[in-house]
Amino acid sequence: MKEFQLIEHYFRDHGLNRRDVELGIGDDCAIVLPAEGKSLAISCDTLVENVHFLSEIPASALGYKSLAVNLSDLASMGAEPAWMTLALTMPEVNEEWLTQFSQGLFEAAEYYGVSLVGGDTTRGPLSITVTIHGQVPHGKALTRAGANNGDWIYVTGTLGDSALGLDILLGKQEVSSDYKGYLINRHYNPTPRVLAGQALRSLASSAIDLSDGLISDIQHILKASSVGAIIDVDAIPLSTSMLESVDKDKALSYALTGGEDYELLFTVPEAQRGAIDTALLHAGVKFVKIGQICPGDKLKLVQDGQPYQIEQNGFEHF
Ligand code: ADP
Ligand code: MG
Repeated sequence: MKEFQLIEHYFRDHGLNRRDVELGIGDDCAIVLPAEGKSLAISCDTLVENVHFLSEIPASALGYKSLAVNLSDLASMGAEPAWMTLALTMPEVNEEWLTQFSQGLFEAAEYYGVSLVGGDTTRGPLSITVTIHGQVPHGKALTRAGANNGDWIYVTGTLGDSALGLDILLGKQEVSSDYKGYLINRHYNPTPRVLAGQALRSLASSAIDLSDGLISDIQHILKASSVGAIIDVDAIPLSTSMLESVDKDKALSYALTGGEDYELLFTVPEAQRGAIDTALLHAGVKFVKIGQICPGDKLKLVQDGQPYQIEQNGFEHF
């Protein structure tokens, strides 16, 4: 199968056809029409085999996840997903793999209203780069920079499940079959908090998505906002599957340092706390207050009012 046949067969005219796409796959560029009053939000994430995913990952999960991790970046800025491009590098043309991969990708794309408008296809070690384009009303994007002393710190969902799921896949943790499926699914099919992110616009003072682990990611907010933070580790949301599988300190270690949760961490001024409750209820996502922004530049973890010590740090490439 030649490159253009492959594109035609697996990627062109698949999925959603947005009306703001003037010209999609097939020409030298895609042409899209951004909405009036909106700014573009653009982000790109690469997944490399054996660095970001295990070779055993089902191709459909890989397709889904390639988009989901990018959608999570849009979510954290409060942007609405619109268009994506896909740079796909593969060692060979494997039609079964491509069928599954594209099915997973388009499943996420249709659910979140994203059109695939272009890309590039090359031969080499398996690697997937999605570039996502979203839109956000002018001046309304959430950033890492707005947290103020006294703001409350919240997170969505439950933390650490993805990292525990990964350890199960790596054979580092044994868990009961009652919980295994859920935890592995949280690793393979993370849920980007797209609606929650949009609901937080104008209410949250800062936001970030948790890709490298809470301790590592919150530092970006502290640095960008020139503040410190105090977090009560007992307030951190843990799933039943997590709590039934490992002891509390291990669970907290996963929640604080494990990567790839793709939940949102955000800060909220006292005056907006009530509004946040209503907004996120409508977005259909659970969220909980875990701490508060304070003066300084440090993160303090506490349990029963005492400093809390954890073991490792988040994942860094270099
Ligand atoms: P060019 O040589 O001008 O870069 P290509 O032959 O690489 O164009 O691609 C032809 C068309 O197919 C372009 O519109 C490009 O955006 C699209 N395309 C290539 N690879 C992919 C892919 N993996 N997914 C989606 N669109 C793709
Ligand atoms: Mg090309």
